Amino acid sequence: MNNTFLRYLTVSITLITRAYSQPAISSVSVPVSLLTKHVYALTDDSFRGRETGTTGQLKAAQYCVQSFRASHLGSVFRVDSAYGSFYQPYFLSYSTISLVKTERGTLPLTYKRYELAPSPVTKWDSSQVVASHNVAGLLIGTDLKQEVVVISAHYDHLGYVEGRIHPGADDNASGTASVLSIASVFDSLARQGIRSRRTILFALFSGEEKGLLGSRYFVHNSPIPVQQFAGNLNIDMVGRIDYKHRKKPEYCYLIAGPKDDQLRKLVSAANKRSVAIELDYEHDSMNDSKQYFYRSDQYNFHNFGVPAVFFTDGEHPDYHRPTDTADRIDYQILSKRATLVFQTAWLLANPDS
Ligand SMILES: [Zn+2]
Repeated sequence: MNNTFLRYLTVSITLITRAYSQPAISSVSVPVSLLTKHVYALTDDSFRGRETGTTGQLKAAQYCVQSFRASHLGSVFRVDSAYGSFYQPYFLSYSTISLVKTERGTLPLTYKRYELAPSPVTKWDSSQVVASHNVAGLLIGTDLKQEVVVISAHYDHLGYVEGRIHPGADDNASGTASVLSIASVFDSLARQGIRSRRTILFALFSGEEKGLLGSRYFVHNSPIPVQQFAGNLNIDMVGRIDYKHRKKPEYCYLIAGPKDDQLRKLVSAANKRSVAIELDYEHDSMNDSKQYFYRSDQYNFHNFGVPAVFFTDGEHPDYHRPTDTADRIDYQILSKRATLVFQTAWLLANPDS
């Protein structure tokens, strides 16, 4: 028997699967219940505000890995060239700045300035070094599996500031919950035999609040060559509504690289066929006064030539304050924005051949 018939059969099955699955995909959404569960878990006091280099951040990393495992993702980082890991350890060093010069004089302000530290760290400088982890998991694609769509968010936050826990529900438990929940959605589709053509990398970075350091380490030390990244969809703060949209809360700011029009079109197409919320391009410029594009992890992907787009709700009075709590998140709009990212990822992961 030759394989012509087999090939015909495979093609037919593929076409049948596509015919049934494609219209269905646009009605797939990211469940409110899942997002709510993750946001409350990540903002629990036991995580202590998830500051990079603390036990709270490590606990958050463990929580994310547990969720990735439950979604049957594959490990991506190598350990001893044999075993896979969901963790990518890296080191940061800090120097304490005690006086800050401003235009009006010198302020007696103490803060720590962080940078990536070379590893392994020597014994004698370890007092000014902290260890941290990025977390990532992989869902292997079908015929285009060498091409990778990166869905990312940072999971760290500020920890304790002036004796108060900063839970960071919007910043960025909302984005982290989105990535974890989108992974679950992809997993449930995969278990029904519906898989994307490209591979999906779900990446959660620490070190963002210290200066986008986790994602910078990642792009410089990626286990998958960065050239294989088809695009980065980065989610940072997607659970609140800013003043501008208080009367029409179904929106999302989109900010992409100057050459990333294809990605803009894709988000727009994904939006039209699914949640149909307002896409706000007010800050979609490298010269925008808010400088949003430079202020989250997509910037590091952009610097490596990866098409990148940033999904965000903008800012609100609880930004970087102890009042950024889980009960203030709007879970309906969070679900719509997470669904928008899922739908965009699906289109990006299934290019027309
Ligand atoms: Zn922040």
